[in-house]
Amino acid sequence: MTATRIDGKAVAAHVRAEIAVKVKAFEARAKRLPGLTVVLVGEDPASEVYVRNKGIQTREAGMVSNEIKLPGSTSQAELLTVVAGLNADKSVDGILVQMPLPKQIDTQAIIEAIDPAKDVDGLHPANAGKLNQGIEALTPCTPLGCMILLEKSGVQIAGANAVVIGRSILVGRPVAALLLAANATVTIAHSRTKDLAAVCRQADIVIAAVGKPELVRGDWIRPGAAVIDVGINRVPADGGKTKLIGDVHYASAAAVAGVITPVPGGVGPMTIACLLQNTLTAACYREKIDPKGLV
Ligand code: NAP
Repeated sequence: MTATRIDGKAVAAHVRAEIAVKVKAFEARAKRLPGLTVVLVGEDPASEVYVRNKGIQTREAGMVSNEIKLPGSTSQAELLTVVAGLNADKSVDGILVQMPLPKQIDTQAIIEAIDPAKDVDGLHPANAGKLNQGIEALTPCTPLGCMILLEKSGVQIAGANAVVIGRSILVGRPVAALLLAANATVTIAHSRTKDLAAVCRQADIVIAAVGKPELVRGDWIRPGAAVIDVGINRVPADGGKTKLIGDVHYASAAAVAGVITPVPGGVGPMTIACLLQNTLTAACYREKIDPKGLV
């Protein structure tokens, strides 16, 4: 059996096109555009590329995009002042502070300073708590992207055994909560899990969010399972170059799985698409518009 490759780029483009239509509907009702502000502290090249792409895709979807660039020497108090200003700014629907932050800044303090209503990263404890109670809330973007990929690939989630490898607040925990909300039976595995291979072999759905290159092998995968690889690992390649690979050994897993995401081109493109979706959702909540009833 050879798995069907899930084309995350194509799904993300489709999601962004749907959002662009909904943004027009939002504008017609609210008489304004949704707005996202991204705050970048320091000059991490990967973060700069990511923030630039966010800006381009936000504008392409018809929304207002703003970027605030602060020096790497910015103090926690200075960043908190910027966040407080954005919380108070009526034109801002979504605030995203790009991670990782310089080490003088307590990341959790910043997450908790963002108004939960504008928390398009879905990391504020108020939003994480709602997600875990099954209450509608702004939800972290990458987990949302994983769920859309499963749904668009026709994977049966209700009743499925899902194994999530990783328990970070960014990916593992929220994707497990979303799978549970969709009626999967969910196991969360982590670095202390005994016999991870045997745990994975029970899974109809495997979500790998570990950060360990090609940890998950083909013989860990139940025939026909859905495999979503969240991992992004930069490793040495031929000719002194580097390349990106996932947490799943693609070739061996694709020989057994039913559907599988590649790296790159799988989950990655979904993250920004879901950020746009969250910005529109936040704008709808603020305008008391039902986001599901936009078009
Ligand atoms: P993280 O915060 O480092 O968490 C990694 C998790 O994996 C932890 O819960 C850890 O367990 C677990 N783990 C580590 N080694 C393990 C092992 N040998 N066996 C089982 N579990 C193990 O990472 P993250 O932020 O969740 O990100 C995970 C991966 O996804 C990274 O490669 C990251 O680059 C990628 N990512 C991609 C996107 C995207 O847009 N596609 C977005 C976010 C992250 P403990 O809790 O026990 O330490």
